[in-house]
Amino acid sequence: MDKVIVITGASRGIGAASARLAAEQGYRICINYHADDQAAERILAEVRERGAEAIAVRADASVEDEVIQLFQRVDHELGPVTALVNNAGTIGPQSRLEDMSEFRLLNLMRTNVVGPMLCAKHALLRMSRRHGGQGGAIVNVSSLAARLGSPAEYVDYAASKGALDTFTIGLAKEVAGEGVRVNGVRPGYIHTGFHALSGDAERVHKLEAGLPMGRGGQPEEVAEAILWLLSDKASYSTGSFIELGGGR
Ligand code: NAD
Repeated sequence: MDKVIVITGASRGIGAASARLAAEQGYRICINYHADDQAAERILAEVRERGAEAIAVRADASVEDEVIQLFQRVDHELGPVTALVNNAGTIGPQSRLEDMSEFRLLNLMRTNVVGPMLCAKHALLRMSRRHGGQGGAIVNVSSLAARLGSPAEYVDYAASKGALDTFTIGLAKEVAGEGVRVNGVRPGYIHTGFHALSGDAERVHKLEAGLPMGRGGQPEEVAEAILWLLSDKASYSTGSFIELGGGR
C-alpha cells in the first residue's frame, strides 16, 4: 500500500521533524501549516531533498471547511491518506484559571481538541474499511501535561490534552475492527518554538537541569515515536501512548 501522510502544523517543531523522518521512510507527505508560508516552503524543500513527493497546504486544522479542502488536495495530488499526525496545537500565557478568558478557553479547545477530531473524521472517511478504505493509522500529539495537570501555569492546556487522550482511547476502540489504529504520544519538555507562546521561550533551558535525564528532548526524538506508531511495526498497538518525557 502506498504510504500517504498528513501532518498538521508541520512547518516547524515536532511536526517538521516528523515530516523529515517520514520522507526518509518513503511516505508521500502533506505538510499542513497555518500561516507561515516561508517556513512551510523550507520544510517542503527539505523533504523533497530527501526524495519524497510532497505538498504544503495552508489550512486552519480546526475549521472543517479548510480541513475538507486539505484532504481533497491530498486525494488529488498524493492519493488517499494512510497516516494522520494530529500535531497542531497551541498554548496560552502562563496564568491561573481566574485570569483565563472565555475567548482563550474556547480557542484552545478548538485548536487542541476539535481540530484533531475533525482531521481524524476526514481521514477516517478515507482510511476506514467501513468507508471502502484500506486501513491506516492516526497519532495524536498529546502532552505529559495531560497527566500532570500543569497547575498555576496552564490547566486549560493540560485539560485539552486530557480530552485528546480520551478521544484517542475511544476512537481506537471505535475503529479497531476497520483497519485503523489510533495512538498518542505524550512529549515532556521539548526544544521547540512552542514555549514562546506561553511567554517563556527559554523554558526548557531553564527547567531541564531538574529533569530526571537532565535535559529537554529534541523534536526528532518525538518524531521517532510518532513514525513507529504509524508503522506496521506497531501493528498490534492501538489506544496506547508513548511518553517522551526523559523520566518526568
Ligand atoms: P510548535 O509551536 O513549533 O508547532 C505547533 C505548530 O502547530 C505550529 O507550526 C503552529 O502554527 C501549528 N498550528 C497551531 N494551530 C494550528 C491550526 N489551527 N491549524 C494548523 N496549524 C496550527 O510546537 P511543537 O512543540 O512542535 O508542538 C507540536 C505539538 O506538540 C503540539 O500539539 C504541542 O501541544 C505538543 N507538545 C509540545 C511540547 C513541547 O515541549 N514542545 C510538549 C508536549 C506537547
